[in-house]
Amino acid sequence: MRRIYLSPPDVTSNDREMLLAALDSGWVAPVGPDLDAFEREVAATCGRSHGVGLASGTAALHLALLDASVGPGDEVLVSTFTFAATANAVTYCGAKPVFVDADLSTWQMSPELLEQAIGARQAAGARVAAAIVVDLYGQCADYDRIVPLLDEGEISLIEDAAEAIGASYGQHQAGSFGRSAVLSFNGNKIITSSGGGMLVTDDQATATRARYLATQAREPMPHYEHTEVGYNYRLSNLLAAFGRGQLSDLDRRIGRRREINERYRTALAEIEGVEFMPIADYGEPNYWLTCITIDPATTTVDRETIRLHLEANDVESRPTWKPMHLQPVFSDAVSFIDGTSERLFDGGLCLPSGSSLDSGDQDRVIDLLREALCR
Ligand SMILES: *Cc1c(COP(=O)(O)O)cnc(C)c1O
Repeated sequence: MRRIYLSPPDVTSNDREMLLAALDSGWVAPVGPDLDAFEREVAATCGRSHGVGLASGTAALHLALLDASVGPGDEVLVSTFTFAATANAVTYCGAKPVFVDADLSTWQMSPELLEQAIGARQAAGARVAAAIVVDLYGQCADYDRIVPLLDEGEISLIEDAAEAIGASYGQHQAGSFGRSAVLSFNGNKIITSSGGGMLVTDDQATATRARYLATQAREPMPHYEHTEVGYNYRLSNLLAAFGRGQLSDLDRRIGRRREINERYRTALAEIEGVEFMPIADYGEPNYWLTCITIDPATTTVDRETIRLHLEANDVESRPTWKPMHLQPVFSDAVSFIDGTSERLFDGGLCLPSGSSLDSGDQDRVIDLLREALCR
């Protein structure tokens, strides 16, 4: 039987044609019209005026932090329930991540703990230079509560929307919050350029600075002139062309992931002890991954038993993100924790959710989940 993956790339004939057309046009690298168009199109999707195409979401986070003047000795507030890239970028700047736990009702950064963290770190005399707020598993954080706290503390907001393109918060798109926001087009995200990312912003100076730092901080002179240390972080025109193909049917991809999510919810509704990531009433997620938690109080089956049963039958699933404050590499970080993300990690499992998953394959996953859970 064919292996079922968690979130594999979903490639259409249009994506293929876009890529080949770019190749045939001669605009292979470094820049070109597809990169310009991809930047405009992604920025528009996020309700932003500028986009800077980059080699990865991680590179975009790094440049967003540099643009917010984050440097050695600074502290940056970071959602603890996230992928390591969010926190790693902070250390690239010589700054320290300070972790903030999640809210059980949304799985996103807790505004209460954020408020505590700002108060405590500023009272301790720390320079809290920025906050990276993650839109986890395709759902926006609660910005109506978070933004005023950061404004009050004079802390720059960077939105990590790597998992959330196409999601919304009220009338606002994911990627529209903060000084800048970051997207990822890594292979397992809802759209991919096979690898890539973008920084989006409304500020012309931020976009210009990011573009400059991403091209080795080369000065506009005929020879190679550098007054600062830069990076080689630009996205290539070929990959941008492929990304444009993917972006052009983002709505279909989101619609398909939403159907998959609804089908899991219906199929597992009767099973004791299984819960889904709550959908907050303030917006609409993009349903990047369907995640469940297994409640140890109501079932004796644990997450690993289920995961291994799926794996034994060639179905890939993954534990939810292991919180950053539990990672050995960040063991000495200051953290504001109430146990929520630890609980969501202990019992959490991400299910196959790709937009190319057909209903026969999803039935296979559902049958295996039922077998594992109803022993
Ligand atoms: C994927 C991801 C990133 C990093 O993006 P890359 O393109 O893989 O570098 C950053 N933050 C979050 C929350 C992610 O899921």
